[in-house]
Amino acid sequence: MPRHFDPTLVNDPFDDPGLYVDLVFERRALLFDLGDLGRLAPRKLLRVSDIFVTHRHMDHFAGFDQLLRLLLGREKTLHVYGPAGLIDAVEHKLKAYSWNLVEGYQGNLVFRATEIDKAGGLASAQFSGRTRFERSEAESRQSDEGLLLREPGLQVRAVAIDHGVVVLAFALEERAHINVWRNKVEAMGLSIGPWLRAFKEATLRGEPENTLIDVAWRDRQFEKPAALPLGLLKKEIMKITSGRKIAYVVDCSFTHANIEKVVQLAKGADILFIEATFLEADAILARTRHHLTARQAGTLARFAGVERLVTLHYSPRYKGQGHCLAEEAQSAFLNG
Ligand SMILES: [Zn+2]
Repeated sequence: MPRHFDPTLVNDPFDDPGLYVDLVFERRALLFDLGDLGRLAPRKLLRVSDIFVTHRHMDHFAGFDQLLRLLLGREKTLHVYGPAGLIDAVEHKLKAYSWNLVEGYQGNLVFRATEIDKAGGLASAQFSGRTRFERSEAESRQSDEGLLLREPGLQVRAVAIDHGVVVLAFALEERAHINVWRNKVEAMGLSIGPWLRAFKEATLRGEPENTLIDVAWRDRQFEKPAALPLGLLKKEIMKITSGRKIAYVVDCSFTHANIEKVVQLAKGADILFIEATFLEADAILARTRHHLTARQAGTLARFAGVERLVTLHYSPRYKGQGHCLAEEAQSAFLNG
């Protein structure tokens, strides 16, 4: 898997679902779902910058308190994303405690909660420790086709699926990655330096080829232009590698509408993390509980043409038979 994403399941597949994605070069991490976080080392939790909550069943949201307790008193802004109702839920969680001492804490902990409705509308609110986590600064806007997070290097998209309640499924994508050939930079007489960052950003923004990029030369003895055209630099010193992709799908009924949305979301992913809650032998139970069977999970992975399938969120009724769920899913994925 990607050098830039290092995704690991938070728990054993029989315990609360959750995916921790270390962004190796950024000293931060993303977290999908907020179930039991007890197995994540505090130093790992402290790296989390953005959390994506699928829905508010307890096994996906009860870890909010663990995180709150660990982060309290630290200077940090944490972004939490989820389906409609998330902002109220965060507010209620925070209102459950007395905050008369919070002004004395050294660092200010801030939660920024963003929820997405079925029509792709986004609403945000902020809760700052400085003001005893009073709700403030509400804002709303339309999402760009379900995009929750968009940064120069990566983006996270959500689709709403049905599980009796609305559940979000997520795809994390690394945007096209730019490699700069050091030796070619040097061969041109240029030096390695901060200007390369501006060059990469201009490329990612898709600026026109004739855009002038300020460069730094290794040797200033001769008259040399202070800037070179983007197109020339692109041709000479860089190679674009297509971005990697991870999808995370839990608590999903096997309905036509869900199948279509999940396949579209996970299309071509390097890894699909997906629930395989029941065995196909218990398909009726799976349907009444709005979950997938392992075979259905494998089928979705095959339809989406993913590279690798990782199953999670096993029903405790199969304790000791986890391999049966995994094998059923892999077999449907590979053989149909
Ligand atoms: Zn669940």
